[in-house]
Formats: sequence, C-alpha cells, structure tokens
Amino acid sequence: MEVQTQAIPYLDLHAQDAVCERDVRAAIDRVLASKHFIQGPEGAALEQEVASICGTSHAVGLNSGTDALKLALRALGIGPGDRVMTTPFTFIATAEMIAEVGALPVFVDVEDATLNIDPEAVREKSHRIKPTPKAIIAVDLFGLPADYNALNDVAKSHGIPVIEDMAQAIGATYHDRPAGSLAFIGCISFFPAKNLGAYGDAGMVVTNNGGIATWIRQCRNHGSTEKYHHAFLGCSSRLDELQAAILRAKLPHLSQWNHERGAIAAFYNRYLQGVDGVRLATPVYPTRTCVYQQYTIRVERRDDLAAFLKERGIPTAVHYPMPLHLQDAFLDLKYAPGDFPVAERASKEVLSLPCYPGMPLAHQERVVEGVRTFFGST
Ligand SMILES: *Cc1c(COP(=O)(O)O)cnc(C)c1O
Repeated sequence: MEVQTQAIPYLDLHAQDAVCERDVRAAIDRVLASKHFIQGPEGAALEQEVASICGTSHAVGLNSGTDALKLALRALGIGPGDRVMTTPFTFIATAEMIAEVGALPVFVDVEDATLNIDPEAVREKSHRIKPTPKAIIAVDLFGLPADYNALNDVAKSHGIPVIEDMAQAIGATYHDRPAGSLAFIGCISFFPAKNLGAYGDAGMVVTNNGGIATWIRQCRNHGSTEKYHHAFLGCSSRLDELQAAILRAKLPHLSQWNHERGAIAAFYNRYLQGVDGVRLATPVYPTRTCVYQQYTIRVERRDDLAAFLKERGIPTAVHYPMPLHLQDAFLDLKYAPGDFPVAERASKEVLSLPCYPGMPLAHQERVVEGVRTFFGST
C-alpha cells in the first residue's frame, strides 16, 4: 500500500467555523451596530455564562489568560518578597506573572503520571522554605485537572490559597466539579488556539469570592468604579465587546468540541497504548475528565519520531521542550539541571499529536499508523 505523505494540519480552526461562523458573524454585526466596544452587555453576559460553566458565582473578563494570572496574584496581595509555588512544566506565563508582581517563583517537580504539580512535593517543600509561600499555582496541563483535593489540603495547612491555571482546561472536571471551581481563583485563557478561542486575545478569572471579583473588576479598569476617580493603581485589561460576542457565539459548542477532543484521544489511546516504546502523557481517570487541549505521548526517541512523522506529512508539537527552571529568563533564580528530574525528563520525551474538533477520521488513522510504523508495530 502506498503511504500518504500529503501534509495534514496540526490544528484546523476552519472546522469550528463550519458550525458557528454564521452566529459569529451575527455577533460581530450586533457589536458593530451597537457601537459599544468596551465594558458593555456582551462582556457582562459572557461573564455570567462562563461562571455558570465553571460552577462559580463570579467571573471577570480580562484581556488575556496571562493578565488573569497577574490580577489573581495582585488581588491576593502578593508582591515583592513573597514566594509562590508552581510547576516548572508549563507555559512561561504561569511563573512569569509571579515574577511580574515582584514575587519569587518557587518551582516544585511534577508527578510522573500526569505531569501536573506533585502535591507531595508541594507539601514537603512548603514546610521547608522560609518564609512560607503565599500561594500555590497549579496548572491543569493539557486539559487534565491537577490533584486539587491533595493540593487544597496542603494549602489549608498553611492557610494559603491555590490558584488554578485552567488556561487549557475549561470544561474539564475533577470529582464531578468543573474546572474553575477547584481552587480559590481560576484563570482562563481564550487565546485563539485554546479549546475555547477568541479571535484575538482574551481571558477571565472565576471565583466564589465576591471581594476578589470586585477588586479585579476595579483593577482591570485603572482602579476605577466611578469615571475619573481611582481608588488604587490598576491597569487596562478589559475583555472587549467584539471578543465577548464572538466567544458567546462559540460557547454553546464548547461541550461538543471537548467531547470530540475526548473521542480523538480515546481513539489514539486505544491504538497507541499497547505500542512498545509509547507512554501516554495523560492517564485516564474515572474521577477526572480531560479536555485534551493537547493530546500528548511520551517516547524516548522523541525527535526521531517527530522527524519520521513530518516526512509523512504529520505535524507534531512539543509542550514543552525546556522546563521553566532552566530558562534563561529565570537564570537569577539559580536553579540547575537535575533539580526537577521528572519535568526535565518529560521535556525530552513529550510529543503532542494533532487533536482538534472536526479532525477527519482519515487523519487520525494516519497519525496512529505513522506512530505504530515508527515503532515497527503495524
Ligand atoms: C495559554 C496559557 C496561558 C496564557 O494565556 P494567554 O491568554 O495566551 O495570555 C497561561 N498558562 C497556560 C498554562 C497556558 O496554556
């Protein structure tokens, strides 16, 4: 049989347009007609709709997931001299915002099974370092919630909050509770490639704490509730009406899209699980649903496999090739290779495969066939 080598996409957003483009265009027209572009009814409605999905009483729209992390930290009063524990195996924004507010990121290794922050390592280190950390930021990596029962327990023993970086996990669940309600504050990203993507930058915080929500609402608008009166120095970080209206048009499809990602992941799991040399980066738990923002495997000859697949027209991605404690940006924190062996090993082994709603079955089959052929398992 002839091997197909025509390139398939890693992510094809056209497939989403096919089901919501008319609604998106109508939403855009609605905003253009209203001439209300900032802090209007679309943003307010989106906040209510997202709070409902996340099982929280409050949501505040912001201009990115990165700002959601920054304002969550600021709302907790975290600043210079404070320490915040987090994972080194994430997108840089998680730790970057800790540094941005003047605090010190304290990295803790991840669990080998999930690549999420290891609650036992958090417990051990949180008792060892002085001063005691002011917060913990967990990341729901690839769309799988971290172990919040264990994390909240550790946090409670210190009287500190957990922040959930759920930039990859809207719609996921943990013990039947939705992502966003699993910690004290949830931080969402609507970056276009995320599983609920805007047509530009956008983000949100969700929380059950009214004081936190009110403070962030004021902060995003220059510390102001009344025009030209500023209670404190805030910033400019609003989620604009066009993005809000677009997200509202896409939101009704989110659970179907997450379901489709799950079905593709199940297909990959089924055909890759038994292949000698392949490990799943995300295990299947009866108590958690993963929304597969990325579908990722772990293989020792990762770069060889990526090159092999590329020749067959199959694109892949590496999330993430370098853990944060080894980034030049964090040189001054004085971490060294060997500090977080699980994250370091994962960075050499992980390979994300194409997985998006609307991905044709024929493409899924080519991915499976490509990986299996590489390992001589046809
Ligand atoms: C995407 C992402 C962010 C940043 O979100 P933006 O909306 O792009 O600013 C933060 N943390 C994680 C884990 C992410 O994947």
